[in-house]
Amino acid sequence: MFGTRSFYILLALFGLCSLLYYFGELIDFAGWTALRHDFFYGVHDVHRLFFLAPIIYAGHAYRVKGAVVVTLAALIVFLPRAFVVSPFPDPMLRIVLFTVAAGLMGSFTGVIRNQSELRSYLEALLRSERDRFLGMLDKMEDGVMIAGPDYRIHFLNPGMVREFGEGVGSHCYEYLHNFDDPCNQICKLPSVISGAIERWEYNFPDGRTYEVVGSPFVDSNGVVCQLATFRNITQRKQVELELIELDKLKSELLSNISHELRSPLTSIKGITSSLLQKDIELDDETQEMLLSGVGEETDRLASLVTKLLDMSKLEAGVWKPEKERCHISDIINEALEHQKWIHKKHIFETDMETDLPEIYADCSQIRQVLVNLLENATAYSEDGTRITIRATSVDSEVEVSVSDEGVGIPQEDLGKIFDKFYRGIQKRQKPGGTGLGLAICRAIILNHGGRIWAESENGHGSTFHFTLPVAPPSRK
Ligand code: ADP
Repeated sequence: MFGTRSFYILLALFGLCSLLYYFGELIDFAGWTALRHDFFYGVHDVHRLFFLAPIIYAGHAYRVKGAVVVTLAALIVFLPRAFVVSPFPDPMLRIVLFTVAAGLMGSFTGVIRNQSELRSYLEALLRSERDRFLGMLDKMEDGVMIAGPDYRIHFLNPGMVREFGEGVGSHCYEYLHNFDDPCNQICKLPSVISGAIERWEYNFPDGRTYEVVGSPFVDSNGVVCQLATFRNITQRKQVELELIELDKLKSELLSNISHELRSPLTSIKGITSSLLQKDIELDDETQEMLLSGVGEETDRLASLVTKLLDMSKLEAGVWKPEKERCHISDIINEALEHQKWIHKKHIFETDMETDLPEIYADCSQIRQVLVNLLENATAYSEDGTRITIRATSVDSEVEVSVSDEGVGIPQEDLGKIFDKFYRGIQKRQKPGGTGLGLAICRAIILNHGGRIWAESENGHGSTFHFTLPVAPPSRK
């Protein structure tokens, strides 16, 4: 569209100039005496100057090529006058000089036009790239901060504002750390501004940890700034720490388990070797004592293996509760009966509300919870002390508690004792233990929709509570 209009304008200009150039001859030829004027018969160098208009316009509209074509066309127009119409001294020389000068001016116009167009194109491209880049920064989940060499913040993306609040215009050390001066020792800004890409971690006093990558960034004024991305890695760090802790616990457990497996096996081996010795005569009482020793060690082994298996089944989700309606008092009595038989030196008492509502639970799993709690109660208290099991109904739940008069649990341990493999600082009265018993209890109770917790005063016994939902009314 622009091309066609320019062409017509150029044609009109060129035509007008050509007409003017030969207007004197046209007046004479047509006999328009009224139009006879000195100007049309004057120096034709002046008339040629008009051709600068189409030549420069061609340079502007069609660049160098256009200017050259129109200059050559003008030369063709000039030639008849030089050779035929009014040969003047050195007509060719003056025409050629003018043509070269005009052609150069037109071409120069074309070059300038090209340059200015290229410049505006590059500026627009730069602007759109910048907008695209800032748009991308806006959408980024990570925080982005651009700070100048004077530590002033030029830009914060929404992710950064979400994490640290507004702060454009302030100094980065004030914004991030509330300092009055740059953080000389740890600050990476000078090295980033000198061209390096730096990575570091910030641990803030409130526990948040950020992984930061700083890279040089040239702003719209050509100033080298630091573009820093902040990734919140607090959770990842916590998981890493937990994994390290878990790893440590697992190694401790492995050495503990091997020890726990080896000691009963060593006792059993020792006892059986004594029993098998043909040269030593053992009386009945000694034999019975040795055999009951084998029985006890075998029980210890069995309990350890059972706990390990239970935990792995619970973790794999294959030990699902097979729920049925049952009475908690029956489960308590069954668990107690066995414990009373094993731990003859403890005093076991029960305090159960009469008419306790039925629960809907896997009886064998709940029995396992009680056995674990009772075993701990006997293991962490002296012989001759009392162990009490209470059962009450509270709202739509049945609450069971197991209290002992043993060593108690320090406050700092109370929050952790239900964690897998965690073993408190308290020592068992008898060897054994894996740090799995309470973790199993918690997994079972949570699977039943109940809660489990412990209360204790160090040195004055502990009470473990758990709740189970009451069975829904039966449809008769
Ligand atoms: P463990 O095999 O070590 O007994 P548990 O998971 O059963 O593992 O218990 C975890 C920790 O809880 C124990 O190491 C112990 O410190 C503490 N604990 C559990 N029951 C009692 C209790 N009745 N009295 C004192 N401390 C206890």
